[in-house]
Amino acid sequence: MEPENTSILIIYTGGTIGMIEDPVKGLLKPFNFKKILTQIPEIKGFGYHLESISFEPPIDSSNIDISTWIRIAEIIEENYHLFDGFVVLHGTDTMAYSASALSFMLETLDKPVIFTGAQLPIGALRTDGKENLITSIVIAGAREYGLPVVPEVCIYFESKLSRGNRTTKVSAEHFNAFQSANYPYLAIAGVHLVYHRENVWQPGKFRELVVHKKLNNHIAIMKLFPGLTPEYMDAVMGYRDLKALILETYGAGNAPTGKWFMERIKKAVDRGVIILDVTQCIRGSVEMGRYETSRHLLNAGVISGYDLTTEAATTKLMVLLAQNLKDEEVKILLNTSLKGEITLS
Ligand code: ASP
Repeated sequence: MEPENTSILIIYTGGTIGMIEDPVKGLLKPFNFKKILTQIPEIKGFGYHLESISFEPPIDSSNIDISTWIRIAEIIEENYHLFDGFVVLHGTDTMAYSASALSFMLETLDKPVIFTGAQLPIGALRTDGKENLITSIVIAGAREYGLPVVPEVCIYFESKLSRGNRTTKVSAEHFNAFQSANYPYLAIAGVHLVYHRENVWQPGKFRELVVHKKLNNHIAIMKLFPGLTPEYMDAVMGYRDLKALILETYGAGNAPTGKWFMERIKKAVDRGVIILDVTQCIRGSVEMGRYETSRHLLNAGVISGYDLTTEAATTKLMVLLAQNLKDEEVKILLNTSLKGEITLS
């Protein structure tokens, strides 16, 4: 395809990347993406048709919520047939949550949606934002045999392209801020941009874009720690509208076996709360039943989260719980890889 026939929509939600120094006042202010071609002339080199939509005002990603995800999904839905790919500029703090959420919300996606951002503003001399943005545009526009090379929601950051729902922010300091600990990278950018096509999600036969715009956030995350008290558990589980609890367990999915602990777990399951077991470890998977300390969870009706990240667990639950499914159906889907988010052994 000729470059001028490649069209990319850049959606700027906010975050550090979109800052530029005001030459007069010396302050950092939001970058005007409407003037992207004049401000980053390198981008002209692609010859692509680029358009941008900016959130007004831009959002620090610590303030991202469900309504922002719906807004991003709607922008993609409205522009789906007009563009070959989408680049979402987003703060790094919650980027892994947003990329995970969008992967489940855009159910039948068959075009690239590449999230990126920066640790230093695009207007700073040592910025990592320029390379992140430029390479994300290249990936969003990459096609082979007329089809997009990476038709899924990804995060591109510091030379690595990872599946959005497999990614976690691991550094507040280094440019190399994200990690996909349980799934191989989809592309690595060095002198050459090398795609690992065998790792890329294949959307299957063509279907019109289905977008889930309802999310249910009546969920809680409880991270285990030695010294956890019954009172703390009661406070979390006493949340009246609680529909699902993500239990961040130790190692391969292990938790205390004490009566006080198990009684509370059983009571919640009996009340209809879906409990999903994910591990606190960044690498590896829950293996329920491997140890005595996880078999009792399995027996109580707790669901294995396998190697799901907490970000993917949170957003997958929010999307599934909003779909008027029976609890049994939600549990089956939790143990199904919907968008390549879990490794089922
Ligand atoms: N606090 C910023 C945000 O997440 C940090 C960043 O952009 O990297 O929006």
